[in-house]
Amino acid sequence: NKIIEVRSLSKTFDNKKALKEISLEIAHSGITALLGPSGSGKSTLLRHLSGLVFSDHREGTEVRVMGELVQSHGKAAPQVRRCRARAGYIFQQFNLVNRLSVLTNVLIGALSSTAKWRTLTGCFTQEQRQQAMAALERVGMAAFADQRVSTLSGGQQQRVAIARSLMQQASIIFADEPIASLDPESARTVMELLKDINEREGIPVVVTLHQVDYALKYCQQLVALREGEVFYQGAAADITEQA
Ligand code: ADP
Ligand code: ADP
Repeated sequence: NKIIEVRSLSKTFDNKKALKEISLEIAHSGITALLGPSGSGKSTLLRHLSGLVFSDHREGTEVRVMGELVQSHGKAAPQVRRCRARAGYIFQQFNLVNRLSVLTNVLIGALSSTAKWRTLTGCFTQEQRQQAMAALERVGMAAFADQRVSTLSGGQQQRVAIARSLMQQASIIFADEPIASLDPESARTVMELLKDINEREGIPVVVTLHQVDYALKYCQQLVALREGEVFYQGAAADITEQA
């Protein structure tokens, strides 16, 4: 029961190799940090895991998440839609719909891939509304349910985004620089919340971070990238003060 399995993954943009034959296994169901300087390939790797981006065409390339094949040799696996539906996404810029209420943004997590966006205008079930309120309570944002997202701070918006993945019943959460736009206090709140959800709901989290200190504090597993290659993988607890 591996969380993530990546075999021989390369990605070339124009002539630039963003990922160079990366192979990787994550067996730990805690929080895994993808670390590395800007441009090292963290986001590109995360997008491959979530099936939002496909790799170069090469024999032997595979990406599996929670045991399911997401893509192989640059093509979507038949399961890719299901994999996407089961993954919650948290982004640096929150990706909420600003003009809609907090509650509606969380309800969006309940839309299945077969739902039509039209349904947004009317009819979520009463049960779905209750679930969305429960998700907002879980992240401490229930009092803001009726406000527009545009009135919230960045940290509050990120908590709403986390509630949306709970609503979606995500089996894994991918977070791409979730705290990069936040002040230190909001950043801590968001990381604490991810940690709490990971521990209590048992949802594995893979998060890109460029701050090593947050990774050491909140993540159990580290994967460090440099220029498109994995140069370190291991337990955060194995990192000591000496280099
Ligand atoms: P990180 O997340 O570590 O900052 P990225 O994965 O965003 O790194 O980017 C890795 C490299 O790939 C960078 O050189 C970046 O400019 C390049 N890159 C990423 N996405 C694209 C894209 N859509 N088109 C062209 N180049 C890209
Ligand atoms: P991040 O590192 O958080 O992904 P970036 O600023 O590197 O943020 O990238 C933002 C967007 O621009 C992404 O969709 C990425 O794929 C794209 N991108 C990044 N680098 C390039 C590039 N050199 N050319 C084209 N698109 C790029």
